[in-house]
Amino acid sequence: MSDNKKPEKLVGIRGMNDILPADAPLWELFENTVESVLKSYGFQQIRTPIVEPTALFSRGLGAVTDIVEKEMYSFVDSMNGDLLTLRPESTAGVVRAALEHNLTYDGPKRLWYAGPMFRHERPQRGRYRQFHQVGAEAIGFSGPDVDAELILMCQRLWDDLGLSGIRLELNSIGNADERHRHRADLVAYFEQNRELLDADATRRLHSNPLRILDTKNPAMQDMVNAAPKLVDYLDADSLAHFEGVQRILRHNNIPFTINPRLVRGMDYYNRTVFEWVTDQLGSQGTVCGGGRYDPLVEMFGGKPTPACGFAMGVERLLELMKGAGEQPAASQCDVYLVHQGEAAQMQSFVLAERLRDAGLDVVLHCASAGGSGSFKAQMKRADASGAGFAVIIGEDEVAGDTATVKILRGESAENRQATVPFSKVAEYLVDQIVGDDDHGHDHGHDHGSHVHYKP
Ligand code: ATP
Ligand code: MG
Repeated sequence: MSDNKKPEKLVGIRGMNDILPADAPLWELFENTVESVLKSYGFQQIRTPIVEPTALFSRGLGAVTDIVEKEMYSFVDSMNGDLLTLRPESTAGVVRAALEHNLTYDGPKRLWYAGPMFRHERPQRGRYRQFHQVGAEAIGFSGPDVDAELILMCQRLWDDLGLSGIRLELNSIGNADERHRHRADLVAYFEQNRELLDADATRRLHSNPLRILDTKNPAMQDMVNAAPKLVDYLDADSLAHFEGVQRILRHNNIPFTINPRLVRGMDYYNRTVFEWVTDQLGSQGTVCGGGRYDPLVEMFGGKPTPACGFAMGVERLLELMKGAGEQPAASQCDVYLVHQGEAAQMQSFVLAERLRDAGLDVVLHCASAGGSGSFKAQMKRADASGAGFAVIIGEDEVAGDTATVKILRGESAENRQATVPFSKVAEYLVDQIVGDDDHGHDHGHDHGSHVHYKP
């Protein structure tokens, strides 16, 4: 770098997004709603590392899945030569942790997680290289009841998020034996139709023929539709399980369609698989995928332990929320504190802490590159902050042991201001905010005030 050249501006990695303050309220609304819905079903949160040994995924996800074949961010730890991977999904990590800490020693566990995942895909709308998932894993449960419960929990989440038009697709992919018999017939069928297979399908013909059923190639649809259906190979137990899930869904008025071509990307799934799909997001329409994965715990060296789970794509759901008009207020604070002069600045620090004690969110004006700023400049900042109130302390206020409270928002905002004794400002503001019907109380959907009152 030469002395007279400006350093080049650094930019982030393609497909990895910054979530900026303007979007934070929507993320918070989503996260709070998720947390309360999952808690209401007795799910407990688990947080596992973002980096795991590469073997966890190559063993857990299956070596011939899209993720392991071409989407993993893997690297060698230069300190010790370990092979590591940024997690592309979280089921493997959660199961590893459950096993490592013997979480199911006293019975089955309902777990949930949220966080960033990493896949080296072609970035496009709804498909990123760092994206976020929320997922749930019910470990140690064998029946169709927990499969249905997971689905009901998703439905409640869509409802609480104000989302409609997300439909449920359901299938059973049986057990390994059933898939084995189906697979033999399927490969034979595809071989008879070899001239219709595209390059992707030809590549998968012997490695992962089930995945060919999932093709999006229009030219292959008719051929794939007529292929042998796995459901025709299910034994009595698998069929009863599948029927059991459907019975509970029907009883709870959860509409679904059975999609015999629905398979999951990961090798460890068995029996129930499901996807939640919308038409509102173009080709990236799957917002949540899940299913049963009874063989996984044993594959990781544990005792046979049945399990079922799902993962949802947060960015896709947020896009749906935006489309549904969900745009929570982005106000920074309840109160912006404006002050002029050194004595007033000292007083304003004291007042700001008192207001925070009372539960208010307060921004205290601080100096920037241009200095502390004139009264006018500070009031401009107060307005831009989205605060409902400016509290002003100048020389007069210091002398009179008062503060001036100015209402910044609402119909009567024009010039409404009051002089309030310094010791009464917190009380005065809390009264003002509680008196306003739009504020407080409404947990979870807090579009207005930052004050959180205990009932
Ligand atoms: P797709 O077929 O879209 O690639 P997938 O089968 O790879 O999905 P899963 O591994 O089941 O997806 O992940 C669960 C959910 O996570 C998906 O339904 C989707 O909503 C979201 N998701 C997956 N990959 C991405 C990505 N690269 N960017 C954003 N969201 C994603
Ligand atoms: Mg994928």
